[in-house]
Amino acid sequence: MTDTLIQTLDVALGERSYDIVIGPGLLGSLSQHIETVSPTARIAIITDETVYELHGQAIEQALAGRQTHIIIRPAGEAQKSLANLEDILDSLFRAGFDRSDLLIAFGGGVIGDLAGFAASIYKRGMPFIQVPTTLLSQVDSSVGGKTAINNQFGKNLIGAFYQPQKVVTDTDLLKTLPARQLKAGYAEVLKYGLLGDPAFFDALEAGLGQDILDLDEAALTKAIHVSCATKAKIVAQDEREGGVRALLNLGHTFGHALELEAGYDGDLLHGEAVSVGMEMAFRFAVEQGLCPVADADRVSAHLAATDMPRISDMTHLLHDPAALLKHMGQDKKNESGHLTLILPRKIGETFIEKRADREAVLRFLTQLRDEA
Ligand code: NAD
Ligand code: MG
Repeated sequence: MTDTLIQTLDVALGERSYDIVIGPGLLGSLSQHIETVSPTARIAIITDETVYELHGQAIEQALAGRQTHIIIRPAGEAQKSLANLEDILDSLFRAGFDRSDLLIAFGGGVIGDLAGFAASIYKRGMPFIQVPTTLLSQVDSSVGGKTAINNQFGKNLIGAFYQPQKVVTDTDLLKTLPARQLKAGYAEVLKYGLLGDPAFFDALEAGLGQDILDLDEAALTKAIHVSCATKAKIVAQDEREGGVRALLNLGHTFGHALELEAGYDGDLLHGEAVSVGMEMAFRFAVEQGLCPVADADRVSAHLAATDMPRISDMTHLLHDPAALLKHMGQDKKNESGHLTLILPRKIGETFIEKRADREAVLRFLTQLRDEA
């Protein structure tokens, strides 16, 4: 392990504050990292089959000597259901866990959301630690304390704000992640630069972005640290999402419409939709005279250079502009009928437009379809 590469970030949320430790090889020293949280507690590990197959032995080895109980679920978004939540709770009860024990979420955002929510309600709340295994979960879902499951009415509609005691982010885990999942996570990394950190975008553009996609250890550690710090700063200002936290949705309302159009079992990952959605937000802002075209061009050029999903890859989802607009209106962040959009003034500066002009959005979507 290269200790010099390990970085620690304090998420400042008063008595709910916690550390995120980031770097290569951290899984091997997991026991040390949880020592400070819970030296004697029994540990329930919740993971999915894919992660278990690839890294199950490593986590079990890392926790040898501790009392552990492992719960392995199939992989996939469908796991975020009430029925599966109940199975997990039952398994914890059967194994006799109590409130002073510890739960570890070992997987991507699906496991983090599901296990985090289970931890929040098990006997009114038990401590939990995130060990995120996808780039998306390392830069996004493991920070901020949102936990949730889905139901027939939509995604993430049942859940709680519940902070982990610690996040242990081992960048080596990404070595087994399929390239497509890695890119989906990179969209969220890029988002942090675009929404408020122009110097970070400059660095990504100058090669850090490609280094991340090439799994360079130093690049990953740096980028995950910057991403988590940005998210943590925004969350600290707005833990329960009343204001600035909405900036984190840059690219997400356009992206959400594409996701709905593709269907949730369609072949479009969330991060892929966000990548395209950010390009759309910049293009729309240019159309509205809000953002210089040169900035939108730089965003598009970076997406092209890193082979990220772009508007031009989504022509099959653009054929019905009215349907897309309707999908955008279904975003749960919208207030009382108005369309809320996060729009750029330039790279690294965005704002919350709570009354976006629907007609203008429709014209824009129609133009994209006609150009396709
Ligand atoms: P995921 O958890 O489904 O992981 C993607 C796939 O990668 C799965 O098949 C998984 O088994 C596999 N995988 C995980 N780690 C791996 C590894 N190291 N090597 C190989 N394969 C691995 O998806 P995700 O993209 O990590 O997260 C998406 C979920 O996160 C969604 O449910 C979304 O709602 C949620 N989310 C939550 C928040 C939040 O703030 N709570 C934020 C963003 C996203
Ligand atoms: Mg997202």
